Amino acid sequence: MLIDTPSSAKSLPTDTTNAAPVIVVENISKTFQNGVKALDGVSLSVSRSEVVVVIGPSGSGKSTLLRCLNGLEDVDEGRVVIDSIPLDDTRRHRDAIRQEVGMVFQSFNLFPHLTVLGNVNLAQTLVRGKSRSEATAASMALLTRVGLADRADSYPSQLSGGQQQRVAIARALAMQPTVMLFDEATSALDPEMIGEVLEVMRGLAADGMTMVVVTHEMGFAREAGDRIVFMEHGRIVEEGPTRRFFDSPREERTRLFLGQIL
Ligand code: ADP
Ligand code: MG
Repeated sequence: MLIDTPSSAKSLPTDTTNAAPVIVVENISKTFQNGVKALDGVSLSVSRSEVVVVIGPSGSGKSTLLRCLNGLEDVDEGRVVIDSIPLDDTRRHRDAIRQEVGMVFQSFNLFPHLTVLGNVNLAQTLVRGKSRSEATAASMALLTRVGLADRADSYPSQLSGGQQQRVAIARALAMQPTVMLFDEATSALDPEMIGEVLEVMRGLAADGMTMVVVTHEMGFAREAGDRIVFMEHGRIVEEGPTRRFFDSPREERTRLFLGQIL
């Protein structure tokens, strides 16, 4: 088991049928104030336990898409629904979705003045209202899961980049999210540390976490990805089951891109 704490009651009813997609993105568009259209009519559904890997050139809208999935960015048009909760202007829905969707960034952004355990405990006590001992029990289980239980009392500055990113993953998991988003989680790491982070991500995928992963790691994409989405200019150019996508891409643009990165 990934998270061995009882799954607490969510603040809103959730759909428990496996058939309903966990993430529904309907025709979303997003133009920034500088006039850049970062997303241009993107639609995507992600099923429970599915791992979707998003690839595409720099500036194609990958990060903006992820940020729209947890409400860090507002969409101009279209609709995002997470676990049956529409991401609309309702404060209650926004807060619920923040808790449903865990996100891991390129930069780990751990709180430097808190220990590893303090970092993983924080949201549980602050947002989930758990007692310190309850939070600590859950945090230690998560730190064990990412292989860092023995570093619970260390400060972030005492850890390697790979270890810090694993703590960041544990911290996101501590909210018991329904969905995990990874935005180039290994891009800032030294090469020798990439593997340990991908290993944790593979473990999550194997345990059935619903994941949307932006990455340049094509080995990970092939192994752990159920489906690949290729974006360019704020649009989905092509998507398909992993094998099919890599072995016989349908679009010329996809072939060109794969030719450049593989
Ligand atoms: P990717 O993650 O694929 O590299 P992004 O989603 O970060 O792409 O960016 C898509 C486009 O939107 C780029 O042209 C980028 O410069 C622009 N962009 C992203 N964030 C902002 C922002 N906050 N303000 C203005 N333009 C932005
Ligand atoms: Mg990006």
